[in-house]
Amino acid sequence: MDEFELIRRHFAGLAPRGEGVVLGIGDDCALLSVPVDCELAISTDTLVAGRHFPLQTLPYDIGWKSLAASLSDLAAMGAEPRWFLLALTLEQADAAWLAGFARGLRELARRHRVALVGGDTTRGPLSITVTAMGLVPSGRALRRAGARAGDLVCVTGTLGDAALALRGIEGSEAGSGAPPEPELLARLNRPEPRVAAGIHLRALASAAIDLSDGLAGDLRHILEASGVGAVIEVERLPASVFLRQQLPTFASRLPLQLAGGDDYELCVCLPPERIDAASAGLAVPLTVIGHITAEPGLRYVDAAGANIEVPSHGYRHFE
Ligand code: ADP
Ligand code: MG
Repeated sequence: MDEFELIRRHFAGLAPRGEGVVLGIGDDCALLSVPVDCELAISTDTLVAGRHFPLQTLPYDIGWKSLAASLSDLAAMGAEPRWFLLALTLEQADAAWLAGFARGLRELARRHRVALVGGDTTRGPLSITVTAMGLVPSGRALRRAGARAGDLVCVTGTLGDAALALRGIEGSEAGSGAPPEPELLARLNRPEPRVAAGIHLRALASAAIDLSDGLAGDLRHILEASGVGAVIEVERLPASVFLRQQLPTFASRLPLQLAGGDDYELCVCLPPERIDAASAGLAVPLTVIGHITAEPGLRYVDAAGANIEVPSHGYRHFE
């Protein structure tokens, strides 16, 4: 038995008997049963070492974040997560690394009751691809298209923490400053996919996206898909205590909040009369940050309504 066969066995132990799993790990395909009144929502995300997470990131956190990124996509569509596939590329089979990775993966999988149903294992530079699958009642998924003029633009949680943590790590490695506090670091390494929020907002929102590359870039996807524009009031962008302490002025926070990336919050558009119902059912704060306009383009304004110049796009991989 080669070491990669051992890895496959390792992950086979990670898969509980999931709902709708006709056949799990072990054959050429998994067999999944999708209820007749549901659509299958499916999304894949790859995390490459040194690009999507710093090289010294703990294996536990890499496991967690790999699944979190894909679950966040399901959340943005209002889908209920059920199953996932794991494609692992590893330099070598390091037992301690694998144990930590599997623990992080298992912890988040358990919380969201998703079952690992298959995958692939190959040798090469460390990279992890998770394909997450979920269910959404037919015709009810939240899409990027659908935002209307007059809708409010809202975000869950706070923005900019992951980018602040990353900046802290880089700073401390360069010898300037202490490493980020554990709670802040968790915002980078163990994001909480907003699954419950997505399901709740599914009936109320007109459009949604999850924020992985930064609000500035991600909101543009909604605007383009919906054929509308937006005005964002930068002083309303929700900031955590960490962010406000380290960067007391909203202007200093803007680059991280708009283009830092890795927030894994949801950005949703909804008619103003639905905002109370939307906030009421949520465990996470929902903050109104602006509104949709018929006229295309994305404008940022201060509290007085004066235009503010900001970089026009989020984090992009091929720049
Ligand atoms: P095949 O060669 O037919 O693609 P493999 O030998 O790669 O099959 O995999 C055998 C079984 O183990 C399959 O069911 C596959 O889904 C599963 N598997 C392989 N790697 C992983 C992994 N990293 N995580 C979960 N399941 C895996
Ligand atoms: Mg096969």
